[in-house]
Amino acid sequence: MYHTLLYYKIVNIKNPAKEVEMHKEICVALGIKGRILIGDYGINGNIGGTKESIELYRAYMDQHRLYKDIDWKEHIADFLPFPKLRVRYRDEIITTEIKDHIDWTKRGKHVDRDTFHQWLLRGEDMVLIDMRNDYEWAVGRFKNSINPPVSYFRDLKDNMGFYDQFKDKKVVMYCTGGIRCEPASALFVAHGFDPKRTYQLEGGIVKYAEKYGNEGFFEGKCFTFDDRMVLPINTTDSAVVVGKCAVCDTLCDTYRNCVYKECNALFIGCDTCHTRLHGACSTACEAIVLGNADMKRPFAHQMSV
Ligand SMILES: [Zn+2]
Ligand SMILES: [Zn+2]
Repeated sequence: MYHTLLYYKIVNIKNPAKEVEMHKEICVALGIKGRILIGDYGINGNIGGTKESIELYRAYMDQHRLYKDIDWKEHIADFLPFPKLRVRYRDEIITTEIKDHIDWTKRGKHVDRDTFHQWLLRGEDMVLIDMRNDYEWAVGRFKNSINPPVSYFRDLKDNMGFYDQFKDKKVVMYCTGGIRCEPASALFVAHGFDPKRTYQLEGGIVKYAEKYGNEGFFEGKCFTFDDRMVLPINTTDSAVVVGKCAVCDTLCDTYRNCVYKECNALFIGCDTCHTRLHGACSTACEAIVLGNADMKRPFAHQMSV
């Protein structure tokens, strides 16, 4: 059994290079794997290790001047979903390419999961904006949330026009763990949304699911950027599947990468199509894999935030 940690903190870090070295040392010593990004404005991590190593890491962070009060999202996994350790300095700890367009001090208001759940229960007049990518929405999302118009978060700034239709509404945005909503809500405010009516779900889907996973309003599974691909949210028999096989359209929530390495497309694929196409995403890729076509084909989709 392994434990995984998803976390972030928006905080001024004066010497990020030093912090990168420090985190590398600690993680190597503890055998922790995964990805940690450290920048001038904060830290963002998705890591895993044994129960003991994760406990020690948390203890270290909780008593650290910069990192105390982190809202940890911890999960148990039956395998370690990270092949290696990467600790990097990043100009932006979440890739938005909007740092010059936003004011970090003008963000949306946080709404805690209990208040948010109450709003959903009483049918509050609000628009649920999914701040993740379209392929994440495709496999699981809050009921009645808006399908995001982008496949990459960095494209959000060029697609803000899509959201103009909701400018007069109360909007609540959410993402996996809350971090993407921090710059996104600032972008919405910069785009003319009223900061008094712009909310972001504190702790994201993960925090909500810890308490309301089995009887809440999240349907389907939560996409993860690691080898797990998706996390179940509702673990009871009442769980619904919202994803659809990209090949045959039947309900399915298994994400796969096309077996043809040059394609590597990330797609939802059912077991039947997976077997029939020999692990490929399409008959075109299947033909190449089976050696029936030339290898020079255009390809797209890679998985990234
Ligand atoms: Zn299928
Ligand atoms: Zn393919």
